[in-house]
Amino acid sequence: MPDTPGYDCGTCGSRHEDLPLSYRTRAPVYWSEELAADEGSELTGDLCIIRGEHFFVQGNLDIPLLDAEGSFSWGVWVSLSAANFGRTVSLWETPGREAEPHHFGWLSTELPVYEPSTVNLKTHVHTRPVGEKPLVEVEPTDHPLAVAQRTGMTMADVQRIAEQLLHP
Ligand SMILES: [Zn+2]
Repeated sequence: MPDTPGYDCGTCGSRHEDLPLSYRTRAPVYWSEELAADEGSELTGDLCIIRGEHFFVQGNLDIPLLDAEGSFSWGVWVSLSAANFGRTVSLWETPGREAEPHHFGWLSTELPVYEPSTVNLKTHVHTRPVGEKPLVEVEPTDHPLAVAQRTGMTMADVQRIAEQLLHP
C-alpha cells in the first residue's frame, strides 16, 4: 500500500491521519433497496442485474498521480450489453481472460466531485486477470473526469476530494 500521509482539513480544520486513494460505491446509481426482494435482480461486490434486463460490472477507474507513486482509483459501475455481460460471467474464472477485447460500457456511477454528471459517460471496459476488477477507461472527451484520467491529478486534488466526500 502506498503511504497515505495525513492532512490538515480545509473543511473542518482538524487533522485527519488517513487520506484515501480510492473510493467505491456499493451499487449502480439505478439500484434501490426494494430491488433486493426482486427475483430478477441481484447485487454482489462485482456484478449487478436489475429486473433481468440491465447488467453491470464494477471496475476501477484509475487516475495517474502526478506527484506521488501509483494512482488514485474510483470504484465505479458500468453497464454492459446482455451479450458482453454473459461473456464476462462465463470468463470469470478463466486464466488468460485479460486477452478479451474491451467491452463498451455506460458509466453508471455518479461521482459527486465532477460537473456535469458522470452518469452515462461512454467507457471502454478492459478485462483484467482472474481476481482483478476490470479497468474502466473513459472516452477521451473534454469532460473533467476524462481530462483527469488522461492528464493525471495531484495529491492536492486527492485532498480536495477527501474534504468534500468525507464531510457530507
Ligand atoms: Zn475534516
